[in-house]
Amino acid sequence: MGRRILFLGPPGGGKGTQAKLLNEALGVPHISTGDMLREAVASESELGKKASEYMKVGDLVPDDLVVAMVEERLARDDAVCGYVLDGFPRNVDQARAFSNAMGSDAIETTIVLHVDEAQIVERLLRRADLEGRTDDNEATIRRRLEVFRRETEPLIAYYGDRVRRVDGVGSIDDIFCRVVRELAE
Ligand code: ADP
Repeated sequence: MGRRILFLGPPGGGKGTQAKLLNEALGVPHISTGDMLREAVASESELGKKASEYMKVGDLVPDDLVVAMVEERLARDDAVCGYVLDGFPRNVDQARAFSNAMGSDAIETTIVLHVDEAQIVERLLRRADLEGRTDDNEATIRRRLEVFRRETEPLIAYYGDRVRRVDGVGSIDDIFCRVVRELAE
């Protein structure tokens, strides 16, 4: 089984949760561009200052900034045996840039989590209460879903036969079991 894995799914689809579990199981780092960008915003770095205006309205941060951030992260020693990517690549241009920089097999398997829209909005609004993420309000959620459909969903076709679809509805453990089963095949 390859250890260069991408999680793809709508906002609130459970990518972060499943990617973290897989990171513990496989011992390869969980690389979440959303988490990295939120850290950059919190530390008020140059990147954070630029990113925050896009994030607060639910738009994508410009590709060049995100691609450079990920390349720098993957150059660290802990990523030599693989990685679980969560939230990157998020559009076809990022996927092309990533493949040009890291090679065409930089992603071996793409796990697509399926969750219907009503459930997504409900989950994100609940998360807003729990985690206090400022981009989890209804207007931004709608915008992020729209961006997902327009920008990110085309990656399913882009990655073609590397894609494994997983039902993202159910308990965290059940979903994780489905993910592991797909990766074992
Ligand atoms: P979600 O998938 O729930 O929307 P993320 O934590 O993955 O949450 O992303 C939050 C925000 O961070 C996005 O709305 C976007 O502004 C920014 N972001 C994360 N990853 C990328 C990326 N690969 N390219 C551009 N922007 C990104």
